[in-house]
Amino acid sequence: MKLDVLVVGAGFAGCVVAERLASSGKSVLVIDRREHIAGNAFDKQDAAGVLVHQYGPHIFHTNAPHIVEYLSRFTDWRPYEHRVLSSTDGKLYPMPINRTTINSLYGLSLDEAGIAAFLKSVREKRDRIENSEDLVLSSIGRDLCDRFFRNYTRKQWGLELSQLSATVAGRIPVRTNDDDRYFTDTFQKMPAEGYTSMFQNMLNHPNITLELGTSFQQVASRMQAAEIYYSGQIDEFYNFRFGLLPYRSLRFEHEHLPGTKYFQQVGTVNYPNDHDFTRITEFKHLTGQKHAGTSIVREYPQSQGDPYYPIPTPENQARYEQYKQLAAADKHVHFIGRLAEYRYYNMDQVVAAALNLMKNSLR
Ligand code: FAD
Ligand code: UDP
Repeated sequence: MKLDVLVVGAGFAGCVVAERLASSGKSVLVIDRREHIAGNAFDKQDAAGVLVHQYGPHIFHTNAPHIVEYLSRFTDWRPYEHRVLSSTDGKLYPMPINRTTINSLYGLSLDEAGIAAFLKSVREKRDRIENSEDLVLSSIGRDLCDRFFRNYTRKQWGLELSQLSATVAGRIPVRTNDDDRYFTDTFQKMPAEGYTSMFQNMLNHPNITLELGTSFQQVASRMQAAEIYYSGQIDEFYNFRFGLLPYRSLRFEHEHLPGTKYFQQVGTVNYPNDHDFTRITEFKHLTGQKHAGTSIVREYPQSQGDPYYPIPTPENQARYEQYKQLAAADKHVHFIGRLAEYRYYNMDQVVAAALNLMKNSLR
């Protein structure tokens, strides 16, 4: 089969690239080994009719107007600001840690300057921030670290904070004010009809053909594409030549609760110290859907299974660099997205990287 472009993976990376190339006049075949589009952002109605995210909660947030402008061609939006509470010792506290978290945890009534002074008094000095433990201890000290970060991280990654790059815990800010939003980006909204509907609109182009339930490895020999855009695992593409790149996986336990209007106060509750799951998300908060019942998901981290998270350690980064060097020599294959670039990307960062790549190659 002859075509201009083969795109492997129908997630954010693959679909942005496919849409851009198709709009520039190229014939594009998109394949995905799963039976659906949208990658890990896939959402669908469960048996009770509640819109759920099959692969865990996905909240869209960005500071980049060009990404919003681009995606808005394929979807309307509903306003949504995500809020997270963390459950420790049977009580719920705002996460990220803010003024309310500290005052209610320690029975204080500090103002913003008081919180800043409190943090200064508990933080541990580090000359160099080499990992996530250094970062957390040097910003909030040991007690808050142990209550909110240490065990959550152990559960989520199967690793200690000290083994993970500082960028992991660095995703979570610390606040001296009462802002209890999980993200502070200027744009925080959810696709009005869901992510899958947005992806359908992206792929709805006469130059795009879609084949689901098809892996690259199945079709590689019969496809003659001038160019390949690959958003699968880079180590798998190269037959694990330099060894496996580890990915952290999750088991998602979905549950519908008939007759329960709301299960919890906010979109997500984190459980750093109890249970085998890390967090529970209730989708109706995210989507605004009205329904007599509610649907939730619990996330159980595990080492085996679908690859959800690249694991940011120095060793893994070094192994990825070997694959990256190999990839640089493959001029007709472009590696894009969270798995192919082995980066802990958010959705907007994947869109930004894909649009950037397109800007350069469609010049
Ligand atoms: P993916 O969505 O993983 O898509 C890759 C696709 O390629 C998959 O569908 C896969 O089946 C297919 N594929 C792989 N290999 C092959 C092959 N060999 N042949 C054929 N097909 C193949 N980001 C946010 O911005 N906000 C959030 O709230 C958020 N929450 C998240 C929660 C969880 C639990 C997880 C795991 C991620 C979350 N993310 C979030 C990150 C977000 O999911 C990713 O940034 C985004 O989905 C990455 O897009 P992608 O196209 O690179 O990869
Ligand atoms: N984290 C934590 N406690 C929390 C929330 C986050 O220890 O209550 C740490 C943990 O290591 C986690 C990382 O911060 O993996 C990033 O959290 P985020 O919520 O961004 O993770 P994601 O939504 O990508 O799973």
